Amino acid sequence: TRLEDWARSDKYHNSFLLEKDDVLDTALANSNAHGLPEIAVSAAQGKFLKLIASSIGAKHILEVGTLGGYSTIWLARALPEDGKLITLELDEKHARVARENLANAGLSSKVEVIVGKAVDSLAQMHPGTLFDLVFIDADKPSNVQYFTEAKRLVRKRGVIIVDNVVRYGRVADPQYSDANVEGVRELLKAIKGDKEVDATTIGTTGEKGYDGFLYAIRNCCGAKM
Ligand code: SAM
Repeated sequence: TRLEDWARSDKYHNSFLLEKDDVLDTALANSNAHGLPEIAVSAAQGKFLKLIASSIGAKHILEVGTLGGYSTIWLARALPEDGKLITLELDEKHARVARENLANAGLSSKVEVIVGKAVDSLAQMHPGTLFDLVFIDADKPSNVQYFTEAKRLVRKRGVIIVDNVVRYGRVADPQYSDANVEGVRELLKAIKGDKEVDATTIGTTGEKGYDGFLYAIRNCCGAKM
């Protein structure tokens, strides 16, 4: 099947570019053992997030949608000694598993998991230092709200990445509709003509299927316009 082809391709490339990683394997195994859904980013995607964070020298990272902390671990690994990552999660159990996985990764001191509706947590955030990178990967119908808050919270030239914006091409299929697809369409409509960001979608097809990241940078003016 196509998914098997895509998975084989990921596996092939990963065999050259990614090392065996007990911490991440344990994080996934622990997440599975607690019954969390297998909807974390792939290893290749996680490493891509880490590379982006490293390449911009990110010291402050915000994540919306923690699950078991798999993408959190990848992102937090890019942080310097005094770097910080805040990750927002609705589900108490997911947050508990994530904290376990982060502790096992030796990242507890750098990462704060905040439990609650991300829209509420975001509204309460007024950080002294703006974030260098925001990764949005939670409930898709709230994408526009998350992206709007991310723009407020990210520094000039900072990066905002939104996961799952292609959805097997369904986002572009006029015959297709569901709440997740509509959440992506609304986001694209909101970004069109928005002078505050410059953005593109890039496919992420692989072992997690046919999907994509929206990658945006904040154009101007910092927190206040
Ligand atoms: N980023 C994670 C990774 O790649 O390892 C995967 C995150 S998973 C796709 C989405 C997460 O968002 C789930 O853990 C879910 O409980 C959480 N979530 C759903 N609705 C939320 C909300 N309103 N506020 C915060 N988190 C929410």
